[in-house]
Parts: sequence; C-alpha cells; structure tokens
Amino acid sequence: MNISDRIRQGHAQNRIRALPPPGNAPFGYKRGKDRYVIDRTNAPIVRDFFEHFLLYGSLRGAVRHIAQRFNKVIAVSTGKAWLTNPVYRGDLAYQAVDPPQVIRNTHKSLLSRDEAAQIDRLLRRNRSLPSRTASAKRSLAGLAICDRCNGKMTVTSTTSRALGKSKAKQKSYLYLRCHDCPEVPKCKALDYERVLERAIDKICQDLPSAVSGVGMSGLGTLKEQLEAAIAKKTSVIDQIPALVLSGILDRETADLRIYNLRTEIATIEDRLAQLPPTNLAAIAQTISIPQFWWDLSESERRFYFREFIRAIALDPKSPDWNLHLVFVF
Ligand SMILES: [Zn+2]
Repeated sequence: MNISDRIRQGHAQNRIRALPPPGNAPFGYKRGKDRYVIDRTNAPIVRDFFEHFLLYGSLRGAVRHIAQRFNKVIAVSTGKAWLTNPVYRGDLAYQAVDPPQVIRNTHKSLLSRDEAAQIDRLLRRNRSLPSRTASAKRSLAGLAICDRCNGKMTVTSTTSRALGKSKAKQKSYLYLRCHDCPEVPKCKALDYERVLERAIDKICQDLPSAVSGVGMSGLGTLKEQLEAAIAKKTSVIDQIPALVLSGILDRETADLRIYNLRTEIATIEDRLAQLPPTNLAAIAQTISIPQFWWDLSESERRFYFREFIRAIALDPKSPDWNLHLVFVF
C-alpha cells in the first residue's frame, strides 16, 4: 500500500470514527482528545454573532456588532462562513470525500437545530432579495385596502416646492390614497410613513397570537413519529458498546453500524427541521419586535410583509383609521 492510499485510509477511518479533520479548530472551539471542545474564551463571541444575526437577519450588522462589543474584527466573508459551518451546529463535515459527507452530533454545538434552520431560511431569503439600492416598490403598495370602498390603495409621491427653488431643498412626501374612490367626498390621502408605523406596531402586536392559532395537530403527530424514530435509533447506538465488550461485534463492524445509524438520524433531523410550525413560531418571535422591521429596507419589508400578511385594511375616514391585518394563515 502506498502513502497516499494509507493517508486516504486514515481519513476514512477518521470519518467512520467521527474524529475531527486535521488542522486548527474553528474559532470558538479547541481540539480535544478525540473531538472539538468549546473554547470558553471565544465561544461567547461566536454565540453573540449568531444571536444578532438571528434577531436582525443582517450579516454585516452581526459582523459590526462583535467588532463593537468584543473588538473582534472579522471579514464579512468569514462571518458568512460561520453561518454555514457545520462545526457550530455540532456536526463534522468531510470535504475531501465525494460527495462531501456530514456526520451529525459529533461534539457540543453552539447553535440549536432550530436556530440553524432559521439561519438557513434567512440566508435563502436574503439571497432572493433585490439590493437596497434597487428602485423597488414601496412595502405597502398593493397590501393596503380601503375599508370604505374596498379598493386597493396606491402610493403616490408629491415633491414640495414651497421650500425653495434649489433641488437640494426639495423633499418628497409619500401618500397612500384610494385608487378610484367612489366616496363623496373622496377618502383623503394618508401620510405613508404614519401608516407604515401603525402597520408595524399592529404586526408586532397581533402576530404571536395569530401564529399560535395555526392548526398543527397533523404536523404535531408527524413530529412525534419522527422524534420517536430518532429515539429508537439513538438507543440502538447506546447498546453497541456493550456488544463490543461481550465480543458479539468487532470494533470495525460497530463503528460502521454507528456511522450508518448517525447518517439515518441526520436524515430524519433534516425533515424535522423543515416542519413549518416550529419554524413559524421561532420566526414570529423574532419579527414581533418593531426594531426588526425598521432595520429593513423598503424592498426587504415588502418581501417579509407578504410572507405573513394578505392585506392591511384601514378606514381613511375614521379618526384612528381602524387599521387591521389579514394574515395569510
Ligand atoms: Zn376608499
């Protein structure tokens, strides 16, 4: 057997026994005897980075946050790599094999499965968003509906010229008004920013209870079945060391069996992480904070609004507009 064969065999052996690949441990971990262990000095920094991202969904924001709070300066590309690095999720990835393999639960994680699923969701979402500078539609366009005439309200802008002739002094104001208002007198135009403010307050107020009312009985049963399947496979893994000790299984067969069981558990955990109610509840918690909404650009807000809201209904003639939301679920 030549050297490269031997190295390859060594790596395969590492993989089956779920040992960390050679090299430095990722920031926040140290190399232990046979696994990564949490580095108590640096792990809180990584944890804070993740928490900031989970709350606000902004990679640059999270990078800035740990620079300010811990004086830990990292590149945006490094932050992005942290968000997807399997090690922080308690898994080991072997890139050298084709296809690359991930073995679950090889060491203590810095992210729960729910949090990891939420990060993936946020990353997917950010990818499909137009850039902040793109001339995007306003977030309330097409969502706001007049309770009096049942018409869609449209966004219009007026530029105030009263302030002076120079362009720099011109300020544009946004309004919402009924498109073809049949009312006499016509419904008056509303200040866009103030409607937005009310809509955000209302979402933060109503979303948690709207989400908790979503029927999840069928999904609840599926979740229990999947969890039971994981528990069963985990208990098989727990019994293997005794079988090795008693000589019923040799070490290699035992390692391979454990490896296969872990892969099967990983597949089930993936399905669990994708079930909607767990995610929905987690997301509702994050976005029921006004700051979350104000940190978004208008195009991002437009995108997020439509994930949860079918319409924002209001009565332009009532003094408090009687604004209420129609949720998609
Ligand atoms: Zn109207």
